[in-house]
Amino acid sequence: MSGLPNTTQEPADGVTICVALFARDAHGAFVINACNDAFLAMAGVAHAEPLSFPFLFDTLIPDHGWSALREKLNAGFTSGDVQELAHPAMRGANEPLWRLTLKPLGGADAKEILLTGFVNPPKRDLTHALEVSDSRFRAVVDSAYDAIVTIDEQHNITLFNRAAENLFGYRSDEVLGRRIETLLPERFRANHSRNVRQFADSDKMNLRSITPPRMDESNSVYGRHRDGRIIPVEIAISKIKVDGVIEFTAVIRDITERAQLMELLRKQAATDALTGLPNRREFLDFVEKVLGTDQVLSVFILDIDYFKKINDSHGHDIGDEVLCVLAQVGMSIPHASKLFARWGGEEFVAALPGADARLACEIADTLRRRFEQQDFEHAWRVKPIPFTVSIGVVTREPGESDVDALMRRADRALYQAKERGRNRVEVG
Ligand code: GH3
Ligand code: MG
Ligand code: MG
Repeated sequence: MSGLPNTTQEPADGVTICVALFARDAHGAFVINACNDAFLAMAGVAHAEPLSFPFLFDTLIPDHGWSALREKLNAGFTSGDVQELAHPAMRGANEPLWRLTLKPLGGADAKEILLTGFVNPPKRDLTHALEVSDSRFRAVVDSAYDAIVTIDEQHNITLFNRAAENLFGYRSDEVLGRRIETLLPERFRANHSRNVRQFADSDKMNLRSITPPRMDESNSVYGRHRDGRIIPVEIAISKIKVDGVIEFTAVIRDITERAQLMELLRKQAATDALTGLPNRREFLDFVEKVLGTDQVLSVFILDIDYFKKINDSHGHDIGDEVLCVLAQVGMSIPHASKLFARWGGEEFVAALPGADARLACEIADTLRRRFEQQDFEHAWRVKPIPFTVSIGVVTREPGESDVDALMRRADRALYQAKERGRNRVEVG
């Protein structure tokens, strides 16, 4: 006899695992050497009194019943190979499904077959589990901070969570079944379809930021609100295959605030805080760009004469006011593509693309005279502060491309203007 528990010992019945040990008698009939209650329950056999082992399988299931199991037992004894069987083969919604494994003990000459089986939850439980998992999924999707939008292979929207409703201004029932292009600015619509098709054909399963440089040259992605507003967004897209059909899910985050902050930081980095003029870096970038072309270019450096004295006699705040006045007037010099910038301290620079030396001198001298004659409107906080400026002008030599060399020449011209008595323009 085997060491398996008999039916009066029931530890195996507590778990839904059934066990039975089969053998064959001298006539080839199947004999059960041992089994547990779970096996008997699975076989659909009620047993009033304790069974005594071994007993013929026919006494349990007469008339050659449960033929599927008999076939597997035969195959197991003959081949020595492990057999598998589901029981019952057809089952109702609430019936448990047993997965049975028949293991011949001793290979091809097996004298015994160990049957073990575990039960799958009845379908009712599976349905319930699916419902729970589905509502859990819905809850997670709907409470997500990011907008989540799924589209099918035809690019129709199949999922649209609450954050997506807030971001795009549509209720989900208004967009489900509609094309994804509804959520895009017009100018990106044509490209978008092509991009999605490319992504569908690619091996990649995840795509962060599908756009650059295909959707927009600035590397940004945009959505379109129901009211027409364009929304900068960050987007991560993944594709999954469900039953052979590809669908795409996009997780979309509104980055309006971040985009505004970036723009503010970009402006701040390029701007002088006191005067609001472009700063030295911005000026050098501008001049370098012009030097990259074959355009005519003049630049000048302007420095306030005896500015230290203004600070000393009127205070630093009044000195600041003079700098702001100078910035205002400098910005208004009449040259179409000029850039007037603060170089640092009480020094300012102008780039005049298209201006030759003569025109540049004329512009510089007009400016110098306006300061000298106080020929500008300004409501001075205390009283008008008279001041003059010295200016060094240079014009790019044909082919000259070194911005530092150009500025050094302008600086030397300025030094000359100072040397020659200030309140004057010198050409370098
Ligand atoms: P010069 O005619 O030779 O140019 O004489 P200067 O006094 O103008 O030249 P200097 O370089 O000796 O002095 C420049 C002064 O500018 C010194 C510094 O304190 C002042 N300054 C620099 N930046 C600022 C600023 O942002 N605000 C104020 N109020 N003063 C500044
Ligand atoms: Mg100076
Ligand atoms: Mg000065």
